[in-house]
Amino acid sequence: MLPLDPQADPGRRAWVPCPRCRDSNHCEPCTQRRTCPTHWRYLLANTGSLLHLQCSSCNHVWAHETHFGATRAHWNPR
Ligand SMILES: [Zn+2]
Ligand SMILES: [Zn+2]
Repeated sequence: MLPLDPQADPGRRAWVPCPRCRDSNHCEPCTQRRTCPTHWRYLLANTGSLLHLQCSSCNHVWAHETHFGATRAHWNPR
């Protein structure tokens, strides 16, 4: 298990399903895409519409493309 990233801040949260532990499956607020009080991720950083997240349950770190926000100068499709 990875340690918690030093940039992880409980004050910066994002609600994205974790691709590893999928702890938000079968959770009512999560499946309704509401801000669940249990299943949230640390928002480590964001680059344009790409979010760098860490799961608060399993500490998995991944990047999530939201397709929202500013267009990046260096676009890497997949
Ligand atoms: Zn997880
Ligand atoms: Zn939830």
